[in-house]
Amino acid sequence: MIRGRIVYMARHTSFRYCLDPTVEQERVLSWHVGAARFGFNQALHLHKEARYAAHSRESPGLGVRSDGDHSEDDTVPGVARVPWTGFDLITAFNAWKRSEAAGRRFVVDANGTARLEVTGLVWRDKVVAQVFEEAAVDLGRALRAHNDSRTGARKGPTVGFPRFKKKSPTGGSFRIRNKATAGRRAGIRLGDGDRPRSVSLPKIGVLRVREDTRRLRRMVTKGRARILFVTVSRGANRWWISITIEAADVHPALRHAAAPHVPQPVKDGVEAANRQDDAGRAAGWVGVDRGLHALAVGGTSDGVEVLRVSNQRALRRGLPRLRRLSKAVSRKKKGSKNRRRAVVRLSRQHARIRDRRCHVLHQVSNQLVKNHARLVLEDLNITGMRSNQKLSRAINDAAWGELARQVTYKQAWRDGQVVVVDRWFPSSKTCSSCGTLRKDLTLKDRTFECHECGHVMDRDLNAAVNLAAWAENHTPPVDDGAGCGVARVGDRQAAGPVINAHRQDTPTDDGPRGRGGKGLDDVGTSRPHTRFDWTPEKGGVSQATQLLKHAVGCRP
Ligand SMILES: [Zn+2]
Repeated sequence: MIRGRIVYMARHTSFRYCLDPTVEQERVLSWHVGAARFGFNQALHLHKEARYAAHSRESPGLGVRSDGDHSEDDTVPGVARVPWTGFDLITAFNAWKRSEAAGRRFVVDANGTARLEVTGLVWRDKVVAQVFEEAAVDLGRALRAHNDSRTGARKGPTVGFPRFKKKSPTGGSFRIRNKATAGRRAGIRLGDGDRPRSVSLPKIGVLRVREDTRRLRRMVTKGRARILFVTVSRGANRWWISITIEAADVHPALRHAAAPHVPQPVKDGVEAANRQDDAGRAAGWVGVDRGLHALAVGGTSDGVEVLRVSNQRALRRGLPRLRRLSKAVSRKKKGSKNRRRAVVRLSRQHARIRDRRCHVLHQVSNQLVKNHARLVLEDLNITGMRSNQKLSRAINDAAWGELARQVTYKQAWRDGQVVVVDRWFPSSKTCSSCGTLRKDLTLKDRTFECHECGHVMDRDLNAAVNLAAWAENHTPPVDDGAGCGVARVGDRQAAGPVINAHRQDTPTDDGPRGRGGKGLDDVGTSRPHTRFDWTPEKGGVSQATQLLKHAVGCRP
C-alpha cells in the first residue's frame, strides 16, 4: 500500500463532481437520501422519547416509561438513558433497528399456529448502514450546538433544537465514510475498471462522474491524499458528489518560505511574476480592500496597486432571468408537472449564479495567496452593513465573508500570513500620505483627496495602502527565516496560531463609543487575544447603528 509514505497530512479539502447515475442508480441514491433522513428523524425521536422518560422518572406523576430498547447502560431498568452524543445515538438507533418496535410479523406454520417474529427494520440491508450512523452523528452535532448556544458556549446566532427533516424530492444528501480494512480495498475508490471518470461506492457501485478525476486520482495513487468520506447530494436537478480528502502539505516550492516577496505593480490586470528580493522594501504587506465597485483592491504601503478585481455582480446579472423564472413557478398550478419543471429551471438559475460567484472568488483568492505572502484584511461588520436596505443585496452578492474565508485557509496552506485589522480602523477616511482623517468622506467620493497635503488617490487603493501600512507598523519586522511569521494565519482545519490584530493607537477621536464608559480601544475588540472569527456579530447588536454609520461611511 502506498499510503505508508505519507508522513504528515493535516490539510482537509474536497473535490466536487457532478454525477451521472443510471436510472437504477438514481433510485438507489434516492433510497440512501431517504435512509439518511429517516435515520436522523428516528434518532431524534429516540432522543426525545428518552428525555421524556427521564423527565417523568424525575417527576413520577407522569409515569411514562420507555420501551427500554436502549436501556442497557442505565441504572434504573426500563428507563432509557438519554442519548446525546453521536456515539450514543448510533447505539440507540442500532438497538432500535433490530427491535420489535422497528418491525415485526406473524408467521403461521403448517399446523396453523401463529408466532410473532421480530424482523427489525426490514429494509435496512438495502442501504449502507453508515448512512444511519452519519445521520445520528449529525444529530449529535445539532444537539450539541443547540446546547452550547443555550448555555452561551457557542457564539453566533441562536441555534434552535433540531427539527425533524421533511421529505424533499429535489434535495437531501447522505454521507459515507471511507472504511479502510487492513488487506482489503478501500470502500470508496476512483476510476475503477478502466473508467477514469467514475467513483465507486460500497453497495451502490460504480457511479459515472461528468468531470475528469485525474488530479484527485493522481494524488491518491501517489499517496498524497487519502479519501475520508463522500457526501452525495441532490440539487439543481443533478446529483453531486463531494469527496473530502486529507491531503499532503502544499509543495514547498509553492509556499511562502524564505525570501520575502516584493509585490509588483499591476500590468493589464496581471501582476508581473517577479519574486526578486529587494532589501530596500519593507516587509511586503499587501492590504486588500474589499468593496462593491471593485471586489478587491490590493495595495502596498508605498502606494503601489498590485491587484484590482472588478465586481462581477453575479446576482445582479442573473436577476432578470431569476425573476422571470420565479414568476413562472408561481403561475403554475400547485402539484402539477409543469410546476415541477419550472422549479427545476429556477433552481438551475440559482445554481448558475452561485457557480459564477464561486468561480470568481476562487480565482481572486488564489491570485492573492499565490503572489503575496503577507496579506492584510479588514474586519468588516457585514451583518451591520447589510441592514442598509439599498446596499444589502449588493453586499450579499459580493460575498466578502467567503472571500476572506478562502484567503485565510489558502494562505495557511502556503505558510503565508493574514492579519485582520480591527473594524474601527478608518482605512478609507485616512490619507495614506500624511495620515490626516477626512471625516466628510462619503460613499460617493470615489477618489480620495486630502485637504491637508493635497494627496489624490483612488479611494479603494487608498484604503488598501492604509491597511498595508497599518500592518507594517503593528507587526514586528520579519526576518528571512522560514516559518518566521508573527501572525500566522488562523485556519480552523490547520488549527494554527491565530491573530486578530488589535488596534493600539487610534488616529481618530471620532471613533464610536462603547457603553459603560469603555475606552475607545475596547470598543469592538472584546477579544484581543487569539481569535479569528468571521462571524459579524462581534460588535454586538447594541452598537449596530454605530457600526453601520462607521462601516457604510468607510466602505462603498
Ligand atoms: Zn494628506
